[in-house]
Amino acid sequence: MQQPALIPLPRSVHWTGGQSDFSRLAPRFRIVAPEMAGPSFELAYEALARAVNELTGWTAEEFPVLEIVDDPDITAAGSPLEGAFGLLLTDVGERFGDEGYRLTVGPGALVQANTPAGLFYGVQTLRQMLRFEDGRLTAPCCVIEDWPAFGWRGIMLDQGRNYQSPEFLRRQIDIAARYKLNVFHLHLTEYPGWRFETRAFPHLKTEPYYTQDELRDLVDYAAARFVNVMPEIEMPGHCTAFLDLMPHLKCTNDTMCMGSEELYSTLETILREVADVFPSPYIHIGTDECEGGADCPRCQAKWAEISAQPGHPPTLMSYFISRMNEVVKSLGRTTVTWNDQLDEGIPKDVVIHVWKPGSDAPAVAAKGYRVINSHARDVYFDHGLAPEYVRRIYAWSPNEETPLPVEGLLGGQGEAWHDPPVDDEWQIIEDLGFYPRLLALAERLWQGPDGRAIPFEEFEKRLLEHRDRFFSRLPFPYPEQTEEWKKRYEGWTWPRGIWTPPASQASSQDSADRPA
Ligand SMILES: [Zn+2]
Repeated sequence: MQQPALIPLPRSVHWTGGQSDFSRLAPRFRIVAPEMAGPSFELAYEALARAVNELTGWTAEEFPVLEIVDDPDITAAGSPLEGAFGLLLTDVGERFGDEGYRLTVGPGALVQANTPAGLFYGVQTLRQMLRFEDGRLTAPCCVIEDWPAFGWRGIMLDQGRNYQSPEFLRRQIDIAARYKLNVFHLHLTEYPGWRFETRAFPHLKTEPYYTQDELRDLVDYAAARFVNVMPEIEMPGHCTAFLDLMPHLKCTNDTMCMGSEELYSTLETILREVADVFPSPYIHIGTDECEGGADCPRCQAKWAEISAQPGHPPTLMSYFISRMNEVVKSLGRTTVTWNDQLDEGIPKDVVIHVWKPGSDAPAVAAKGYRVINSHARDVYFDHGLAPEYVRRIYAWSPNEETPLPVEGLLGGQGEAWHDPPVDDEWQIIEDLGFYPRLLALAERLWQGPDGRAIPFEEFEKRLLEHRDRFFSRLPFPYPEQTEEWKKRYEGWTWPRGIWTPPASQASSQDSADRPA
């Protein structure tokens, strides 16, 4: 039997020969450790049931029969599990942490982990191994031990510029979770759009927008897959839509006026509603690419007031971030900001989301900040689809070239910006090569920098197998990087805009292949 292509590749895989058959006996699950079988434990079980159902078509009535047993012998690789799936919460050791797992296949399949999240990730690996042919459900015998290098494994989509339906977002969350990503960042506001329903300011929204109930449903859907949905409200820049609807809060330039006290109370009201909808421990407040209006009387008066205080923040921007951070903290959450305005006035308890070309995430972490690395050069998804685009992510690591561990470096995140408007939300996925990039990102965030010792060509083989097996009806613009294909892109320079296929190479996906 051919060894299955696993993405992300686990830390340790030992194929022990032969295969386990889950259809020979009456198919069933055994859920072990009933004293720990709480709601989040059930999520791992449900994920396994879904995976089997998708593969076999067996309905909930046919499969599984849920059996709760309390049998210590089941932990041994022995007969009690034959032909069955087992999920066991147990102490598997410190190195597995909060998300690691041990997966043993043969004669049954047993996932063991310290936490329900670990069980869930073990199930995702098992899912990639299961085959269903001629009515038989099988997996190759193995022992896998696995845990992630980074705790923050994120992906962002930009709803501010291009609204994306909740159904579409659920699909992307589901796929991200299958590749063991655990943060889904919603960029809810931008120049052209304010997609967050604020009940205190009912007129503050642009069509289409998300109701708070829709967003709560999305949060629940993601939580069932161990994915945290982090909301972002971009302030005080990147907010034309907000300024059009709230003109009294506009500065002399195209930003919110940081000299206006009413701005602070308005944003506090909005953030209270954001926190109410999103249980995320992190709230992103943007603060990207923005300065106060130099000629604004309100800003000047505010700055005169601030700068008269001893130990004041060095800029109006860092004053603004400090104030919003107090609001976020009062809601029991942690503030995340883009790295734009990093001066000594930025509180050390703010998480810095590094993106700028030339910036150095480990260096920011070394200053005492917690850091998410989304370096634009590597993990922005809007650089086109030239041959190097997946290889570049594969060769990247959140810790750049600094040896691990770097205190405070939480992990990394891919950023799926798509500035031009689209008529069809799936165009975003196709234009950005979203899935090929996502899989390379998932591999690196889970495996960490050491995984780069594995040649790209080996990863590419797995990538192509996933393309053909799991993405046959989704846009996945990735041909094998043959020399001939590379030649088509000779003269290509970095970065470039949205991809257009060379005239001689038609897209392998036509629109009829897209999901409805
Ligand atoms: Zn102002």
